[in-house]
Amino acid sequence: MSVNKHSVTLDVSKCKGCTTCIKRCPTEAIRVRDGHAVIQEEKCIDCGECIRHCPYQAKKAIFDKLEDFADYKYKIAIPAPALYGQFEDLDDVDYILTALIECGFDAVFEVSRAAELITEYTRQYMKREDLVKPVISTACPAIVRLIALRFPCLLENLLPIMPPIEYAAILAREKALENDPTLTDEDICVLFISPCPAKVSYVRNPIGIKKSAVTGALAISDLYFKLRAKKKEITNPMPLSKTGIIGLNWAGSGGEATSLLSDKYLAADGIENCINVLDQIENGTIRDLDFVELNACNGGCVGGTLNVENPFIAKARLRSLRKYLPISRNHIASNEDSYEHIMFDDFDEMLEKAYSSSGTTDRFAAIERMAAIEAIYKDLPHLDCGSCGAPNCYALAEDIINGEASETDCIIKLREILGKGK
Ligand code: SF4
Ligand code: SF4
Repeated sequence: MSVNKHSVTLDVSKCKGCTTCIKRCPTEAIRVRDGHAVIQEEKCIDCGECIRHCPYQAKKAIFDKLEDFADYKYKIAIPAPALYGQFEDLDDVDYILTALIECGFDAVFEVSRAAELITEYTRQYMKREDLVKPVISTACPAIVRLIALRFPCLLENLLPIMPPIEYAAILAREKALENDPTLTDEDICVLFISPCPAKVSYVRNPIGIKKSAVTGALAISDLYFKLRAKKKEITNPMPLSKTGIIGLNWAGSGGEATSLLSDKYLAADGIENCINVLDQIENGTIRDLDFVELNACNGGCVGGTLNVENPFIAKARLRSLRKYLPISRNHIASNEDSYEHIMFDDFDEMLEKAYSSSGTTDRFAAIERMAAIEAIYKDLPHLDCGSCGAPNCYALAEDIINGEASETDCIIKLREILGKGK
């Protein structure tokens, strides 16, 4: 398994230094230095925007391979519901779940099952009177990291309940240990079948949880052809699926929010739209909302860069798959009123970390730094042309203060300085 915390990486040999990606990165995490892009790791949220927009395919997502886990005694696949939207002529999810077993897994546990339970716990959580509203979903890790970086004052709005991927892994482990008492937790590996790099990086670097119960993350695109071939050979699939409409709906934008049975919700997808919504929540121009669901990818998880199918087609296929399903097939016990066991375990620590990285814990140092950046910025041409390798003049001013760039990286300033020297 790769030790890289991020999934999104650069293939330097393919990069032409064209600067397209620096303008598209929502957290200004990319610079072009020495003729090629450089990703600033502390700012990257693994949203995949640079993968979508690089004209030379120099940005790519790295993920784990099934072979990396050969030493584990018991392997469980936890597929994202977006997986089912990738296959044409699929009328039963069991074909894909059986194909996963045929590919070498010992068991499968659908993430959509955990999503149905999380939906019920969230409904209970939303009844609390002390909530900072709107409550913002934490299912998309790119959005949670975006909020921590660009909108730290909205961190208190985040839903402090673990995402379905995490709960699915916990339940899958419990079930395996229950079914086979000779197994130990160390014998088991739980592998997420991921639609996007943000969730691959969640597994390596979890949010709100000290250690993820997920062992690794494989890409849907990497398994796709194998699964398609196996699917064709299956005539009698095993009855493995235990998901209803609600669980499948989580694959697309709005699936989580609509299941909460409240009219006061908003669902947005695509990183630019999400940033606009967060801006408005921060400025107080969106009011009277209970819940906000944001997905960094267009269309929701079906739009992740590790899928193979167009998100609109995948969504249409999921719609026809859910036609004969019950609303939900996973319920919490009717007398269960506690959701403590699925709350984040180090959420407070996460808030603290985010505040300190945004500079708010040392207010005076932050003000001083801001003044220094402003002073440099004032003297820059404000063209935001990107030819210095930073996405805009303000980012160049920040880089100069951080000691990572100099004023002469700006060609206009350089010309000015050279002109004065004549
Ligand atoms: S878009 Fe970025 S990564 Fe792709 S070639 Fe241009 S500078 Fe390099
Ligand atoms: S993955 Fe997203 S945040 Fe990371 S460098 Fe690419 S565009 Fe920026």
